[in-house]
Order: sequence, then structure tokens, then C-alpha cells
Amino acid sequence: MGMNITLRTLTPLWTGGIDQTHDRLHETGLIGSLRWWYEALVRGLGGYACDPTSEDRCPDKAGKHCAACELFGCTGWARKFRLQVTDTYDKIIQDPLIAPNTEFVLHFIELRQMDDAEKWLSTQTIRIAATYGAVGGKTTLKPQKGVVGQDYGIVQWLGANLAKKADNIEIFLKQGRDLPQEEFPNLKWFFFIHGAFLSRLRMNPLLGLDNSGDPLSSPEDWQKFLQGRRGSKTKSAVSKKLFSFRSNGGRIWGYAKDAQMRDTVIERIKQQLGNGNYTKKTGEEVLHEL
Ligand SMILES: [Zn+2]
Repeated sequence: MGMNITLRTLTPLWTGGIDQTHDRLHETGLIGSLRWWYEALVRGLGGYACDPTSEDRCPDKAGKHCAACELFGCTGWARKFRLQVTDTYDKIIQDPLIAPNTEFVLHFIELRQMDDAEKWLSTQTIRIAATYGAVGGKTTLKPQKGVVGQDYGIVQWLGANLAKKADNIEIFLKQGRDLPQEEFPNLKWFFFIHGAFLSRLRMNPLLGLDNSGDPLSSPEDWQKFLQGRRGSKTKSAVSKKLFSFRSNGGRIWGYAKDAQMRDTVIERIKQQLGNGNYTKKTGEEVLHEL
């Protein structure tokens, strides 16, 4: 059965293509963000997913690939599905999804058969990104351009037609390529805060920046990790790892590199926020609920 997922926009969705234009809906922009969350979920569940931008990407020398490449493709191995975006009457959406409160449906059209485990993992990927994070571009991938303070990619999860858990998840995740994972986003080390927002002045100390946004001379490890790095001639850019959205009552999320750093970051965020009516959840808690 074809898989489909229904969402509602709460902010504009950014799906700009490689040329960074926003003239139409680019399915590839959505797929890029889905892959990123899928990788984090696969790692969180104990499977392997390469970073497709790293030297260590698949296929390896033996031609093997990881669970994420198995579904999303890599050199010599095509993506298993095509994504089609329609409204709730099955009419294809071509214009960018800018208006809030627009319901839309993601259809996974299989080009090759998807395993039941892949269908469940994809469904959960989108549910987690929608419920706790953000989807589309301008959130995780590259330094932000465009209107300062504009939120993108906050959506509401409305449901999926295939939500039943496949019974072969663990076996499925142990297939494929095994590779070191320490520095890659792993859902276990994510943190999610709902009902709060970090202004730039509160965000800066968490990122190891002073009030003018310049790097502190000796930031702590966790600050350096969250800060990321601007690209230069010799080094590629590394995304920051802490995100804050004003929309829908406020949402903060990000990730650390292990449990200890994650819990430190949560404490520091709570210090910045003070008392308030917000809730926090770790990626580990999200994984336990699956
Ligand atoms: Zn891979």
C-alpha cells in the first residue's frame, strides 16, 4: 500500500532548491530534511547512517551502504521512492507552501519496494520532526539567510495511513554497513523544549558568543559544539545545533554529542529561560515512546 502522511503548515515551509529560490515547491528540499531526521532516528535506534556530506559516505570500498542510503540512495543506488505533495483532495501542489494552516499530504510513491521497516521509520521520522523539530530547509542545514527572525518549517502532525510498527526493525537496522557514528546527530542526544523561545541575546551565551555575537575566547566544549562553524576557504561550514522558533507558542530544539552534554545544555537553557510554563523532552524519551 502506498504510504501517505498528512500535515498542516504553522509557518511557511522552506523547500528552496540548490539555487536557493523559493519559486515553487521543491520535493528535493523536503527529502533532504527528511533524510537528516531519518539518519538521526536510525542512529538513535542503534542502526547506522552515514553522513552523505562526509568523506566516509557510502558506498564503502566493498560497495556496501547504510540504512539511510538504502532508502534515500547514494552513488550507484537510486532512492526507493518519489515524493509527491498534494492537497487533501489529491491535487498536486506546485506553489511553495507559504500560507499557514494549509493541510497537505506527502505521498511516498515507491519506485522500488520499500521494506515495512522503512515505511514505519519514515512515518516516525516525519512525526518526530513535525511534533518536536522542523521540516524543510533553513533549519538545520546551512547558515540562515532571508528575513531575520522568520520561522520556517513548523508543521502540525495530522496523521499517517501506515502507523503500525513493523516487527523487524531491529533486524533491519543491523543489516548494511557498520561505521563510526560519534559525531553524527543521534536522536538520543536531542533535546526538545515546547512553550518557550530564545531571543538572540539569550541564544548567544548558549552558543559561546558574547552580546555582539562574537565568539568568546575560551568557550566550553558544549558551547563550541552548539556553535558550529562558518565556512572558510579551507574548512567547510558546520551547522549550529541549537534552534529556536517563536511560532506556535515557541519551540527550542537541538542536539549534543552525548547524554552528559545534552543534560548540561538543557540545564543551561533552563537557566536562560528562568521559570516558565514550558516542557522539555529528550530524544531518548521520544525513542522510548515508539
Ligand atoms: Zn550511507
